[in-house]
Amino acid sequence: MKKYVYFFGKGRAEGKAEMKALLGGKGANLAEMTNIGLPVPAGFTISTEVCTHYYKNKQSYPKSLTNEVKAALKKVESSMGRKFGDAKNPLLVSVRSGARASMPGMMDTILNLGMNDVVAEGLIRKTGNERFVYDSYRRFVQMYGDVVLGLKPVHKDEIDPFEVLIEAKKRERGVHLDTELNAEDMKDLVGRFKAAIKSKTGHGFPEDPLKQLWGAIGAVFGSWMNDRAIAYRKMYDIPEWWGTAVNVQSMVFGNMGESSGTGVAFTRDAATGEDKFYGEYLMNAQGEDVVAGIRTPLPIATLAEQNPSLYKQLDKIRTTLEKHYRDMMDIEFTIQEGKLYMLQCRVGKRTAFAAIKIAVDMTGEKLISDKEALARIEPDQLNQLLRPVFDLKEKEAVVKSGRLLAKGLNAGPGAATGRVVFNAPDAEAWKKRGEQIILTRIETSPEDIKGMDAAEGILTARGGMTSHAALVARQMGKVCVAGCAELEIDYSSHTMKVRGKTIREGDWISLDGTTGEVLEGKVPTRPSEVLRVLVDKTLDPKDAPVYQQYAKIMSWADKYRRLKIRTNADQPDQSKNAVAFGAEGIGLCRTEHMFFGEGKIGPMREMILADTVQERKAALAKLLPLQRKDFEGIFEAMNGRPVTIRTIDPPLHEFVPHEEPAQRQLAKQMGISYEKVHQRVESLHEFNPMLGFRGCRLGIIFPEITEMQSRAIFEAAAEVQARGIKVEPEVMIPLVGNVKELEDQAAIVRRVADEVMKEKGTKFKYLVGTMIEVPRGAITADEIARVAEFFSFGTNDLTQTTLGVSRDDAARFLIPYVEKEIYPKDPFEVLDRVGVGSLMKLAIEKGRGVRPDLKVGICGEHGGEPSSVEFCHQINQNYVSCSPFRVPIARLAAARAALADAPARDGRAAKKRNKKKSPARKPARRR
Ligand code: ADP
Ligand code: MG
Ligand code: MG
Repeated sequence: MKKYVYFFGKGRAEGKAEMKALLGGKGANLAEMTNIGLPVPAGFTISTEVCTHYYKNKQSYPKSLTNEVKAALKKVESSMGRKFGDAKNPLLVSVRSGARASMPGMMDTILNLGMNDVVAEGLIRKTGNERFVYDSYRRFVQMYGDVVLGLKPVHKDEIDPFEVLIEAKKRERGVHLDTELNAEDMKDLVGRFKAAIKSKTGHGFPEDPLKQLWGAIGAVFGSWMNDRAIAYRKMYDIPEWWGTAVNVQSMVFGNMGESSGTGVAFTRDAATGEDKFYGEYLMNAQGEDVVAGIRTPLPIATLAEQNPSLYKQLDKIRTTLEKHYRDMMDIEFTIQEGKLYMLQCRVGKRTAFAAIKIAVDMTGEKLISDKEALARIEPDQLNQLLRPVFDLKEKEAVVKSGRLLAKGLNAGPGAATGRVVFNAPDAEAWKKRGEQIILTRIETSPEDIKGMDAAEGILTARGGMTSHAALVARQMGKVCVAGCAELEIDYSSHTMKVRGKTIREGDWISLDGTTGEVLEGKVPTRPSEVLRVLVDKTLDPKDAPVYQQYAKIMSWADKYRRLKIRTNADQPDQSKNAVAFGAEGIGLCRTEHMFFGEGKIGPMREMILADTVQERKAALAKLLPLQRKDFEGIFEAMNGRPVTIRTIDPPLHEFVPHEEPAQRQLAKQMGISYEKVHQRVESLHEFNPMLGFRGCRLGIIFPEITEMQSRAIFEAAAEVQARGIKVEPEVMIPLVGNVKELEDQAAIVRRVADEVMKEKGTKFKYLVGTMIEVPRGAITADEIARVAEFFSFGTNDLTQTTLGVSRDDAARFLIPYVEKEIYPKDPFEVLDRVGVGSLMKLAIEKGRGVRPDLKVGICGEHGGEPSSVEFCHQINQNYVSCSPFRVPIARLAAARAALADAPARDGRAAKKRNKKKSPARKPARRR
């Protein structure tokens, strides 16, 4: 019979860390911590398979589950020496969700379950602590009412109905803090809560502990499909079929008085990555109090003074965990009357800054290898390092002028500026209108997740470094200032007061997430450390710690990657920046961009308006020296690295004006009639320019254009080579679908190359290749490769032509397509491996079939997108090419692809060896 329930307790667990798929992250790690001897209250985990079963079978459980839960509960009872529902010596439990991937606060937890009036009396007799018992009781009713019975705020400006009752009680009693309410108050609240539940839902509160337990289990499985869990999964690509596990665990109590408490901590600083214990705790508090930001907690350093022996215990666990998991961990703990219990641990979420620092530091500490370090940094995280920061001088001026509004916790580093909105739906709506916004909340909750995603930055008045806002902001890579207690936020009037000022919805503010400062107005930003070192060259690497880490990661990446990384650039300064970022060549130089440069658009238009070959050649003759100069600049900047230059590609109408006044002006400039200009532009009109007169078709109909461009390229090559700089031009013919197109163009290119070499009395190396960007090109790649010395996949066009989708017209249906999961991602962003990818594979196979050393690259937008880079590695391309700012990302992505590939290969090899050794028992299965 299938096993659905896994016990942990008394130093032994049936599960372990590797069983996350089955037990969820929380359950697997509770088991692991139990096994390595950490103090974990006993409990059991109901596996994710039950969740799957639940949704496949009309929300019902496997038959054997009831008995398994009963048996496990017995074991928990005997480990704890208490009985569930017992009037004398009762066991209380928590019911906790826990999916394979952590989804902070996305699903629901219920504490103190098993409580009812009889149990409460028994517990009071046992503990002699009436306030504690009724505090626990009212928390239970509150959580159960919310999570299981569905009593929660409906409108966005509303607050929690239970909090309303608590606030009323506090007012009646004239106190401010929850902790100031006494046992009698708490008992009264239990009654009021139950009455509210009865009146709003029509159901009484269940007194039977077992009924409570199954209600809670059902609610946790049910919460897997609630709106915020679904939204969260979408955002982080968590598949629905994973399901959640349910953990039932005996309670330990942080609310038993001043020697009890609860806290959360990171084994290192999750914002900066610094190697120091970072956490927060509250004495006489339970569970969610710390995370929910209801009271602002104390930093863990305070515990070292308040209770050194406890701090020592905790610090030892910190070391144990880091050594065991070899990573920065996020832990949850509770102290019950001076004794420490571990309630959760998981690999801690961190900012890009922290991810890099921790990976580099742990490599230095020999906790992990450089390969592991690379595996721990998501390529896109590097973006954060390149993002602007506030200009310090500008910020100082703002502060001096009295516009520093407040200071909070530096929960998510970086600089953000935007207009204030006070709730998540508004944030989404404003963002849709194209506004830049700062989401400002008293505290955030999982419901706010979409609004947080829409915001440039997040500002909260309550909560610590481990509050929901801080946690989620770090994961999203958002700028965040949390726990800014001075802010008096009023949701209903959409304003906040701070230091005598009133900030209204729509006002501009700026957040410095690195220092925690909140500033009035828009504060200008400046380039990041990495850019100042590499591009602006205004910062010395030795004064730039962030840059140093970046450099280490990049050097490791370069050690392991197999793909070469090139860049798409058509100007010398762009090319230089790209080289600074590590580009090893140019993969796409779009010559048409050059035509818009100074002095070039005139002759270009003359060329287009020309009536005869003679006129056209005359115009091209004017362009030749200008274009040659451009290429010289690029060859020089690339200093010996290969440069792929594409001959003219876009339809000609893109170079001429479409409005009457501009056409009249052009006519005047060129000394021809307006009618003629107008007519010519009209004649260039196309119904579907994407599939029109463009690409190699231009050069085939007007060979003199290809001839001029080839001449410009080769004369520049000869010239730069004569100056002692190596050159490696690669001439690339676009939009080839038929080998004869390429033959036609290649013949011109090669003839001109010969001519230039003869004229200059020199020799240079060059290649002629093609873009593969229409399906026919891929399908006939064997024919094309007889002429082409290299292929470069133009995946923008190849995606358009393979899918039959025009990118510029796709917005209206492509977003719904992705929502309906017709395509898993926007195929113009993430390469469609199944469709477009198959054509690429085919083209490589056929191309290398006739030309084994065929060089293959990609120059579409996908060349800088990590998952597409991985695919390019897998299909054995030689290089990827992307925009200069994505070069570091591509380097890292390429290394990760190579490393992910290596163990798989070893694995296959190992399997093969084993097969050979073991005697064949069964006849080989037929394929
Ligand atoms: P989340 O997944 O949202 O973090 P948890 O299941 O971790 O939810 O529960 C939230 C908090 O509730 C925990 O951090 C812990 O403080 C408290 N908690 C959960 N189970 C117990 C327990 N058995 N005893 C004491 N506190 C608990
Ligand atoms: Mg937790
Ligand atoms: Mg193209």
